[in-house]
Amino acid sequence: RKHTFDRMPLAARFFALPARFYSLVRPTPLPEPQLLLWNAELAAALNLDADPAAHDALAEYLAGNRLPANSQPLATVYCGHQFGVYVRQLGDGRAILIAETPDRDGVIQEIQLKGAGPTPYSRHADGRAVLRSSIREYLCSEAMFGLGIPTTRALSLVGSPQPVWRESVETAAVVARTAPTFVRFGHFEFYSHHDDHEGLRALAVWTIVNHYPECKEANNPYQALLEAVITRTASLMAQWQAVGFCHGVMNTDNMSILGLTIDYGPFGFLDGYDAGHICNHSDTAGRYAYNQQPQIGLWNLQALAQALLPLLDSKEEAIAALHQFQPQFEAAFAEQFRRKLGYADWQEADWEPLTHLFNLLQAGRTDWTVFWRALSDHAPYAEKGSIPAQLRDQVLDRKGFDAWFAQWQSRADRSDPAALRDRMRAANPKYILRNHLAEQAIRKARDEGDLSELQRLAECLRHPFDEQPQFDDYAGLPPNWANDLSVSCSS
Ligand code: AMP
Ligand code: MG
Ligand code: MG
Repeated sequence: RKHTFDRMPLAARFFALPARFYSLVRPTPLPEPQLLLWNAELAAALNLDADPAAHDALAEYLAGNRLPANSQPLATVYCGHQFGVYVRQLGDGRAILIAETPDRDGVIQEIQLKGAGPTPYSRHADGRAVLRSSIREYLCSEAMFGLGIPTTRALSLVGSPQPVWRESVETAAVVARTAPTFVRFGHFEFYSHHDDHEGLRALAVWTIVNHYPECKEANNPYQALLEAVITRTASLMAQWQAVGFCHGVMNTDNMSILGLTIDYGPFGFLDGYDAGHICNHSDTAGRYAYNQQPQIGLWNLQALAQALLPLLDSKEEAIAALHQFQPQFEAAFAEQFRRKLGYADWQEADWEPLTHLFNLLQAGRTDWTVFWRALSDHAPYAEKGSIPAQLRDQVLDRKGFDAWFAQWQSRADRSDPAALRDRMRAANPKYILRNHLAEQAIRKARDEGDLSELQRLAECLRHPFDEQPQFDDYAGLPPNWANDLSVSCSS
């Protein structure tokens, strides 16, 4: 049954936690909110009345100017390690939880308004988000969903003429985003490092009861929780690497306890393959470079394990759990590349040629997405001993690639080329959110007030694995001007 924001059924899971976990805070109204993007599919999943045309007030709710009936909006406190450095207090500085509501599968989803104004955790910042970064968050979280990668989602994007000062003056926007919970590693660190072990236990129990019920029966449910988060994070890292996603700010406060991709800031997808690629202009040391992400995932899990120690039986058990990360990541990574290569199984002997392939792609900065899609399209049909030019021309070391390709041919089951192609296409997306595509959509929307590009790009990214000829202008190599784009933490 459909409902509007006024009639939205509200859960109140957060209020089961002690009051020191959050502050009640109302969004600060924004002038002239305009609904720029509306995710009808997600709205339907939330049983929300899906026709924005029939609801003048929709933008008011999604900007935080009006609240669902009985809503008790709140912001939560957390802390974390930012670029490896402990910061003793952070929190929802610009995200306000306005509702927890069951979706049509009965899963309770939190709805947060990001950019809804200051909270007690804003530290001297303004609580706002600019249109540019809000567009990027909306597009990328939905792109990740389309790619089948665990993520927070975006329900809407609302713009406002309200000025916001960053490097220059920009305008404010709000993304309404959803997730079963936005709780991060940093929430656990907060209670642990402030020696509030009762708070820590309350949060761990809350997380298990609401999100990891399978851990309840374990000998030590908290140990089981740690192990489950390690498994999900290892899997998430493998999925990021496979699709060439660089998060950019993998601080512990940006790590979801559910293993979701969360906090879309200076992220980027690989264009030309460069293992050391740094997407965040502010990350001068490359702490969060593409090839560092899995190890940083583990580093962050160590911080989580450290925080959970007061609840665990022993340090040894925490360490034993952390030792599971590497094998689990490797297994998940192998599974990703088994699918990308179109193999029926993964064998120990497959690692070496895979490394060889990475080196070949690195040497010529071969475009990650175009290469894998071309491999899917053309390799299944190639005669034994011949190599499609569409592939060979992408690689600098042709001789080296000939050898690699012959090896691939001997390994893949090519008896039904069309079936092989379809399996590979389902693992190798044709359309990803390249920086310059986001930038084009941002410029049109922000500078010309033209939303068509934004809507078109969002539409395309919903089905990244499908052939969509009408969107093939999104599938090519990036133009030269894309090299000059830089994204930083400023958002
Ligand atoms: P991030 O780098 O996006 O993970 O943000 C780090 C911390 O800064 C979090 O606690 C955010 O809530 C807070 N923060 C970032 N931008 C703002 C802003 N414009 N206003 C208030 N808090 C912010
Ligand atoms: Mg953050
Ligand atoms: Mg952020």
